This record gives sequence, C-alpha cells and structure tokens, in this order.
Amino acid sequence: MSLDAPYDPHNIFAKIIAGDMPSVQLYEDDDTLAFMDVFPQSEGHCLVVHKTAPATNLLAIEPQALSAVMNGVQKITKAVVKGLSPDGVRVAQFNGAPAGQTVFHLHFHVIPVYEGAALGAHASGGPAAPDVLEPVAAKIRAAL
Ligand code: AMP
Repeated sequence: MSLDAPYDPHNIFAKIIAGDMPSVQLYEDDDTLAFMDVFPQSEGHCLVVHKTAPATNLLAIEPQALSAVMNGVQKITKAVVKGLSPDGVRVAQFNGAPAGQTVFHLHFHVIPVYEGAALGAHASGGPAAPDVLEPVAAKIRAAL
C-alpha cells in the first residue's frame, strides 16, 4: 500500500473501533482507543488509534487529531510502565507497506521491553487468545 493510498473504512481497526470485531480493550475516550495487539511482540504489546480520523498513516492525519492520539499514546505508555514494570518501552509507528505497515489505519505500538527477552516478530505467529491477553490488559487498566 502506497503512502498516499485512500483510507479504507472497512480496515480491521475500523471494525474494532465500530465494535464489529472483537478486541481486548484497555482505554477509550472521545478521540482514542487502546487495545491489546493480538500478535504481541512482548507481554503487554498494545496499540493506540484515533477513533474517527480517516488516516492511513502519520502523513494523513490532521495536527489536532494527531495531538489527541499522542496524548493517548503517552497515557497508555505510562500505564504499561506502571502496570508491567518493563525495563524499557518502545513506541513505534510504520508508514506504508515497505516500512512494515500491515494495517492501514494510523496506529502507535506500545511495546514493553524486558531485559534478556528478545522481542517477537512483527505481526506474525499465531494470535494470542483473549484469556492470555486479558490478565495482562487488567494490569495495564489498573495502572491507568
Ligand atoms: P503494523 O504492521 O504497524 O500496521 O501493525 C499492525 C499491528 O496490528 C500488528 O502488530 C498486528 O499484530 C496487529 N493486529 C493485526 N490484527 C489485529 C487484531 N485483529 N487485533 C489486534 N491487533 C491486530
């Protein structure tokens, strides 16, 4: 998908936002939604999206909406650190398929990093079951 491809309102994250697709959710406000990544690269890997901005990537979002979603990114990153006590935390975001983007609704990865534990591969492997993600999500929610 090219950097200036049109936004597809039927993408998988739009379905999650609409409630048409299940997800393990962490936080929601007027602008943002955070939920667990179903192919986690580490325990606690989660995603933050803008709920209404029809932006495929960072280049396509209005500054005001970007500011709102970044507030959500910081809020979730703080909760991940407080709730899971990782040694570090990676915040990542990819633009365009050649850069590694696989879902074309702008999103930010929050990936806790634990010393001595290698990160899993990006967007691959088998999906984590909700009952595996839920206890980790509960710790993050409790730290919000
Ligand atoms: P990216 O490759 O940067 O576009 O990231 C997309 C992310 O979405 C990957 O980390 C996937 O593991 C994740 N993902 C794909 N489908 C789902 C889903 N249904 N629920 C939660 N996360 C998903």
